[in-house]
Amino acid sequence: MKTSRRKFIQASATIASLASAQKLFSQSQKVTKPIVVSTWNFGVGANAEAWKILSKNGRALDAVEAGVQVPEGDPKETSVGLGGLPDRDGRVTLDACIMDENANCGAVACLEHIVHPISVARKVMEKTPHVLLVGDGALQFALANGFKKENLLTEESEKAWKEWLKKAQYKPIANIENHDTIGMIALDSSQNVSGACTTSGMAYKIHGRVGDSPIIGAGLFVDNEIGAATSTGVGEEVIRICGSHLVVELMRQGNSPQEACELTVKRIVKNQQEKSKEIQVGFLAINKNGELGAYALQKGFTYAVYSNDVPNKIFDAKSFY
Ligand code: ASP
Repeated sequence: MKTSRRKFIQASATIASLASAQKLFSQSQKVTKPIVVSTWNFGVGANAEAWKILSKNGRALDAVEAGVQVPEGDPKETSVGLGGLPDRDGRVTLDACIMDENANCGAVACLEHIVHPISVARKVMEKTPHVLLVGDGALQFALANGFKKENLLTEESEKAWKEWLKKAQYKPIANIENHDTIGMIALDSSQNVSGACTTSGMAYKIHGRVGDSPIIGAGLFVDNEIGAATSTGVGEEVIRICGSHLVVELMRQGNSPQEACELTVKRIVKNQQEKSKEIQVGFLAINKNGELGAYALQKGFTYAVYSNDVPNKIFDAKSFY
């Protein structure tokens, strides 16, 4: 009895996955590879760096790491890496994760003093049996692996923090530069998908707060059979629904990347109702066909695309509100 039931379930699962694969590929769009997409306007500079690798038939993993290093190292970007706005105690704490085509992944959270947390995340992936290192442990690991300890709080970010301290009100506002993550996903010419996600998180957060960005399945998810997704915005809402994983699983069920992003954002609306009108969350996704999707709660979410057909352009995502 048990065996026949198991066989029935196995058979149904095979039929279901065949059907969804057919639906996915019957969209028969031209395969656009390589392609790299990333969140927000600063995605343009990041894409340009990633493209140097992708256009020479390089690996998507190398491309996304090199790409997101651009805003990480730019002191003028106040939401990622060096120059990121600090937490309420004036400490710049960084979150990042990376995932490759073989489901290998690595992440760091609440990491201080290191300009390129994405590269520490990659070391966690490649050199340890773990996925996520946090706080002092992550710093210790970074230093032991040759990363330099630096002061990440720029004069401008310190000034902005001191101004914030006067009222010390914590209310994340949609699309204002007090929160913005770079999430980058790429499909290389070998048809492999990888992704990277890095941020200084919500400005003026409680010390120790970790958002969605370093959480595999929340801020980023890659499945080389299906595609990849990444997110930006109020991380707590993304964690609650395992956002990027949900987008990828919805694509697995046969939805296009656009449909998958829309269904995922609608899940947040369903959960949060009134609150969803006041916060921003955006998702970006690609599938193995090189099709892409982007959708946000609020207007104003932008993303950058670089492929042979689209030479590094910024687009406005559609939104629920
Ligand atoms: N998702 C990031 C976080 O919650 C911030 C952002 O993308 O704006 O830390």
